[in-house]
Amino acid sequence: MRAGPFERSPRDRRKTDILQEGEARFRALVQNSFDIITIHDSNGVTIYESPAASRVLGYPPGTLIGKTPFETLHPKDVARAREAFDALLRGEVSAAPVLMRFRHADGSWIHLEALGNNLLEHPGIRGIVLTSRDVTERKRAEERVQYLANYDVLTGLPNRFLMQDRLTQVIAHAHRNRLRVALMHIDLDRFKVVNETLGHYVGDALLKQAAERVRKATREADTVARVGGDEFTIVFPNVTSLQALSAAAEVMLDDLSRAFPGEGQELFVSASVGISLYPEDAGSVDELIKHADAAMSTAKHLGRNNFQFFTADMNQEVQERMLIEAGLRTAIQRDELSLLYQPKIDLATRRIFGAEALLRWKHPKLGMISPSRFVPVAEEAGLVGQIGEWVLHAACRQIREWQDAGYSLQVAVNVSARQFQEYDVAELVMDIMRDTGVLAKNLELELTESAVMNDAEASIITLERLAALGVQIAIDDFGTGYSSLSYLKRLPLDLLKIDQSFVRDISSDPNDAAIVRAIITLARSLGIKVIAEGVENEAQLAFLNAYGCQYAQGYLFGRPLTNLQFVKLVTTGELEQNIA
Ligand code: C2E
Ligand code: MG
Ligand code: MG
Repeated sequence: MRAGPFERSPRDRRKTDILQEGEARFRALVQNSFDIITIHDSNGVTIYESPAASRVLGYPPGTLIGKTPFETLHPKDVARAREAFDALLRGEVSAAPVLMRFRHADGSWIHLEALGNNLLEHPGIRGIVLTSRDVTERKRAEERVQYLANYDVLTGLPNRFLMQDRLTQVIAHAHRNRLRVALMHIDLDRFKVVNETLGHYVGDALLKQAAERVRKATREADTVARVGGDEFTIVFPNVTSLQALSAAAEVMLDDLSRAFPGEGQELFVSASVGISLYPEDAGSVDELIKHADAAMSTAKHLGRNNFQFFTADMNQEVQERMLIEAGLRTAIQRDELSLLYQPKIDLATRRIFGAEALLRWKHPKLGMISPSRFVPVAEEAGLVGQIGEWVLHAACRQIREWQDAGYSLQVAVNVSARQFQEYDVAELVMDIMRDTGVLAKNLELELTESAVMNDAEASIITLERLAALGVQIAIDDFGTGYSSLSYLKRLPLDLLKIDQSFVRDISSDPNDAAIVRAIITLARSLGIKVIAEGVENEAQLAFLNAYGCQYAQGYLFGRPLTNLQFVKLVTTGELEQNIA
């Protein structure tokens, strides 16, 4: 049966149902969507807002209707939003979502990511449809990541990356405008000690305060960054007076050497500061950084708590130091170290009674380098323990060989200050003596005055342990450092070595003669023997004899020799003839 003209056919009815069903479904989708859906007329005025709008933005439903969204956007985002809206009006399809900040009812900014569709021609809509998604959480996370990548969390200062970035911009600007840029590298002295003895909590608190002092000593335009554990740099974008820059460095040093309050006590650090200049010292960011660093290292070597401008010499010096340090790490494995033996003479019998073992290093590139050059580098690089251990081992093996051959020779081994202070030298000596079978009386240790006096109480304990083993103990370079007489009395010493600087002019400079005589008298009253170093001629020897010096060492008797040369000298008796 056919349906009448006014009756809907079952097919039509089904179509309507489906349509109605579909409409309800879409309405529900829009109503429940997490995204805000808004419809705007061609002027941008809002004619529809979905419920998500009030949920996300906090306004009562309908608040947006009759207004344009531009009124509630962040001022910096308005132009971009208008541009995108105009593009939609022209019929362009938006390629990427537009990011903008929308004011929430509580005053905060909500980050929205909006996509638009021009449906002005669509009979059911007749508007521009925007779908906006709340991406505030994501933006916050991104900002946090951005912050962490560019800032130091502890001090809130820019980190190394941001500093390099700024420096790059500053240099480009300076290049165009013929300005001078300064980079100041600040490294705290002794911070490691604070951190290690009082803990990281106290260390962190000190760093925060130090950062604050550095920041306060600079101006708005300067970038202060924390570029390492206890290192800061400052970028001065426009330096007009080097004098003013020096004055700024002075202020910085003063500020940082004042007491830092910490955990119920006052803490003291100081700083070493290096400065490099663009364009004088460097043409690139990397070079400028490297040179400020080199100048800072020089400031450290000059005794800390001072500032230095970079010089070309420094660069060479630093490069050589780096070459030395790099080479030192492998010197032992590559068998580049050796010992020479300089004879020590008993002036009463005119016989060799022993030797001083002197370290030699044949660097693959630099050739023979003096221990006075590389031992300080080894100390600083933390390699002196290994090297000192090698020296003791090598010397003791040699002593054992001589013992076995029937020679009774006392061999002195130099122990560096750092090695003495930071390692258990007594324990090491005990182990090596046991391993090599060296008789204690044949081993002597040479320590400088400052190594021993730096922490005299601790030195007494270590030296007594060594003395208990029967090892001889000598104070090297005596007279050049400082000694406390009361401590000198309490230390178990066997020998004072008069520094060669006093011996050199003993026959011409009455002051030096007086000093040498005083040292001999002092030693005698303490019951300690004396040896003069650096004896090069007969005149010096005559004076030493006249003052009653017991032992001597120097080119007059023999230069530092290889073990074979040394043994030959001992056995041929060439020496007695030499000085007879
Ligand atoms: P030092 O212990 O005071 O050694 C004496 C230095 O004076 C040696 O220099 C020696 O070669 C030199 N000398 C000896 N007689 C004369 C002389 O008549 N005239 C002059 N002008 N110089 C003389 P060297 O071997 O270059 O060693 C320099 C310093 O390096 C040593 O001073 C010592 O402090 C250190 N050193 C040497 N070997 C070692 C070592 O194995 N370990 C450590 N830690 N330091 C060492
Ligand atoms: Mg010595
Ligand atoms: Mg000496």
